[in-house]
Amino acid sequence: MATDTPAAGLSNLAQEDRRFPPDPAFAAQAVASSALYEQARADRLGFWAQQARSLLDWSRDFTTTLDWDDAPFAKWFEDGQLNVAYNCADRHVAAGNGERVAIHFEGEPGDTRTITYAELTALVKKCANVLLSLGVRKGDRVAIYLPMIPEAVVAMLACARIGAAHSVVFGGFSADALRSRIQDAEASLVITSDGGYRRGKATALKPAVDTALASGADTVSNVLVVRRTGQDVEWTPGRDLWWHEAMEQADDEHVAEPMDAEQPLFILYTSGTTGNPKGILHTSGGYLTQVAFTHRNVFDLHPQTDVYWCTADVGWVTGHSYVVYGPLANGATQVIYEGTPETPHQGRWWEIVAKFGVTILYTAPTAIRTFMKWGEQIPAQHDLSSLRLLGSVGESINPEAWMWYRRVIGADRTPIVDTWWQTETGAIMVSPLPGVTTTKPGSAQVPLPGISVDVLSDAGEPVPNEQAGYLVLTEPWPAMLRGIWGDPDRYKETYWSRFEHRYFAGDGAKRDEDGDIWLLGRVDDVMNVSGHRLSTIEIESALVSHPKVAEAAVVGAADETTGQAVCAFVILRSGAQEGPDIGTELREHVANQIGGIAKPRKILVVAELPKTRSGKIMRRLLRDVAEKRHIGDVTTLADSSVMDLIASGLDSASQE
Ligand code: ATP
Ligand code: MG
Repeated sequence: MATDTPAAGLSNLAQEDRRFPPDPAFAAQAVASSALYEQARADRLGFWAQQARSLLDWSRDFTTTLDWDDAPFAKWFEDGQLNVAYNCADRHVAAGNGERVAIHFEGEPGDTRTITYAELTALVKKCANVLLSLGVRKGDRVAIYLPMIPEAVVAMLACARIGAAHSVVFGGFSADALRSRIQDAEASLVITSDGGYRRGKATALKPAVDTALASGADTVSNVLVVRRTGQDVEWTPGRDLWWHEAMEQADDEHVAEPMDAEQPLFILYTSGTTGNPKGILHTSGGYLTQVAFTHRNVFDLHPQTDVYWCTADVGWVTGHSYVVYGPLANGATQVIYEGTPETPHQGRWWEIVAKFGVTILYTAPTAIRTFMKWGEQIPAQHDLSSLRLLGSVGESINPEAWMWYRRVIGADRTPIVDTWWQTETGAIMVSPLPGVTTTKPGSAQVPLPGISVDVLSDAGEPVPNEQAGYLVLTEPWPAMLRGIWGDPDRYKETYWSRFEHRYFAGDGAKRDEDGDIWLLGRVDDVMNVSGHRLSTIEIESALVSHPKVAEAAVVGAADETTGQAVCAFVILRSGAQEGPDIGTELREHVANQIGGIAKPRKILVVAELPKTRSGKIMRRLLRDVAEKRHIGDVTTLADSSVMDLIASGLDSASQE
């Protein structure tokens, strides 16, 4: 018996009844208001045009808001012109805010740098001149392969300033991943560093660039190298240049040239959680409008007083939209931290929050679950009273992780915004608005003003509340991807062919009785057990709600009798006693929370889970293990040894 929507049949879901209405004092000062929804509902395009004009400085105003004639290829604000880097730097200086701190940088070894908007503007101008002197021109592509250091931000803005598209490649990726991304984009310049600091050690980056260029990335004529660690590097004279030398020689003045709103801004590859990464193309005016709008309203940004910290790496889309473009367009003061949360101790993040007085923290569920595993005594040692808003992105946040985040980090006081979006959407799409929305642990809740979503059945019909289906976007949005680099057919095929005129996000979702959206995991991850479609995230959340469990990943493994059997991989909280029969204990717990059908057949206690570099659980690899198959593509995995450990432990799994 097949049902026609993912997770249909799972009607006896655990109920989530906890509600957190906005605090009246917070709401009285809030940036967002419910009027935004009304304005956008009355005139969606007019709403976005107004946001574009009020949030950004345009060199030439636009006369059309959206051109959708050639759908699914969109043009937003097409005849308008602006310079993205000017909007993120110079204009704040022109407005008298040059002395405001743009970046508080904290290196992993403890070195710090404070960069004001005036200083940032000066650095970006110089770097733009360096790029021009190396022959980089408008329309060219530049690969950026750097640690989380201020030069990464400067390099991205310098590219934007001259109209060259950047392709940031996460610094933890291999030479091979770098090579294929350089080749795909035909980049002419690579900006890298000798290395960076991670887990208390200096790691090297330049050797991977040398290998990538020697193994086929032959469009590159120069490599610009930031000196971060001082380690020895191989040098190719004529090709390689030191950043600090080039910057020193560069002219101070550079006048930002207006660019068309549809000028390509960057190419970025998706995380590769469900398949091979795709090169997603974003352009200028629409993208900057939506990242600025969402950064201001979703994070309740008060630029004069807030200290904002998004912990994402610039190698990921969250780093593009909510470290670089959104915060800087809004003139925010932010923290950038180079290293890992456990270096030199497990309280490092909380020490940073206290040190800089961070008011807004934006991070991923994977980090929150790690902190849960380490225990609440660690954040308790630090003064977190400056925090007034917490955000989450990257995966569904399990309700118990949400509650922990609010209670332990947010002192039972801060609103939490669970933000759903993708590399492809460019900016946040579904999220509560702080001060407006009554929040629910585990739900991303409502499409933002100006955004239209639906949940459809296999047949493309909207499904009723409380039933699972496919999340789609029903109207074009300003920050939408403009395509997959060099592959218009794959763009249409991947996103626009599953349902006519609807953008297919690839995620399962349902609406609850109030119409709020719950993300249920990747469509590819949905399991089918005895004809019941089960959602991974709901079983995982049931496991995480057990006091001994910090983190869980669930997959379906082929099974002769039931079609698929639920297979669970769990990480225990530190100090939790495994006991002789943890498997039975957890199975009973899932049965109580959800129902007998969701009980995992196999449960394996593990020390680590396979995750992408951006911290998402890679269930497709766990499925390979559970079905005893050869393990698939692991190139975007953060730590590939994890898979060997898990595969070797499978035979000792608790089995029902
Ligand atoms: P690929 O498309 O190559 O498999 P990816 O989808 O992991 O990679 P990203 O664009 O970084 O690459 O991730 C977007 C996805 O992350 C979304 O489609 C969704 O599955 C998940 N996601 C992001 N934020 C949330 C959230 N708040 N709640 C639930 N899921 C989320
Ligand atoms: Mg994706």
